[in-house]
Amino acid sequence: LRGKVCILGAFNVDIVAWVHRFPRGGESLLAQRSSLGPGGKGANQAMAASRAGAQVHFVAKVGKDQFSQFAFDHLASSGIHSFRLYQSEREPTGNALIYVSQDDGENMIAIYSGANKTLSSDEIASMSPELASSNVLLVQLENNFDATLNAMKLARALGVQVIMNPAPFSPDILGCIDLIDIITPNETEASLLSGVEITDLESARAAALAIVARGARRVIITMGSRGALIYDNQQFQHIPAFPALSVDTTGAGDAFNGALAAAIADGQTLAQAATFASAFASLAVEREGASNMPAYQQVISRLALR
Ligand code: ATP
Repeated sequence: LRGKVCILGAFNVDIVAWVHRFPRGGESLLAQRSSLGPGGKGANQAMAASRAGAQVHFVAKVGKDQFSQFAFDHLASSGIHSFRLYQSEREPTGNALIYVSQDDGENMIAIYSGANKTLSSDEIASMSPELASSNVLLVQLENNFDATLNAMKLARALGVQVIMNPAPFSPDILGCIDLIDIITPNETEASLLSGVEITDLESARAAALAIVARGARRVIITMGSRGALIYDNQQFQHIPAFPALSVDTTGAGDAFNGALAAAIADGQTLAQAATFASAFASLAVEREGASNMPAYQQVISRLALR
């Protein structure tokens, strides 16, 4: 893929403890295993778009603490083409404290956004040169919303397509749907955006129509192993998930969005790009770790299975 994708989003440090069961209030228990690694939807999606073959420019903000060097080292060795890390004087690097229950794979997460919520309008304005030479801007909702909104306005003024992954859901998004070219909610976010509870493909279609009625142009609702529903040009298309030996589904959405942006930047149609993103995400769920993404050649092999 040859397109250029600019991504604005969060960088978090994920601190994970694998436990037999979650601790109760006031209890200390011994974890079986622990890890500390890169996370945040922005960083994960940047990793995905880069592995999918796009030339990626990633913009994020961290603190002035021991984790900012960690962020820098991770991005410098990630294969991501270029990045800009701002540093907050007051807030620490964002972090996520995660328990994963080894019995059923369920997780429990507390996120502190920290520096991710402190992007200034000057910092967004200085994205202009990189944005102007990009095909796509990909954003999520983990930064302060005014920064994300400014970046979307800048992209539109520069004629750059905007892909919004509205996660985690915030009602702020309802006021600016007209700035978005492609919106990619999962089932929960699509239900909150539309007011339609999604239980099957039929209700997902109704939700997509309600999201369009709110001003969206093109919609992709991702539905885990049930695949993805596209609404484009007044037509629905269901893209079934590729069969996968699921190991760790956290980050499936990040894999899908990064790969989608890479394929759209390369000029693929929405259906082609969503199929590519589905193949990419099906490989990502076979790997442990939310930021652990497959390689382009594996995706091509999996696509050949359909
Ligand atoms: P998460 O929050 O867990 O990162 P999400 O809820 O944002 O994920 P999903 O809708 O679960 O996103 O998944 C995105 C896409 O990834 C799906 O549309 C599908 O193509 C693919 N996918 C997810 N889970 C599976 C699976 N078990 N097998 C194959 N493909 C999957």
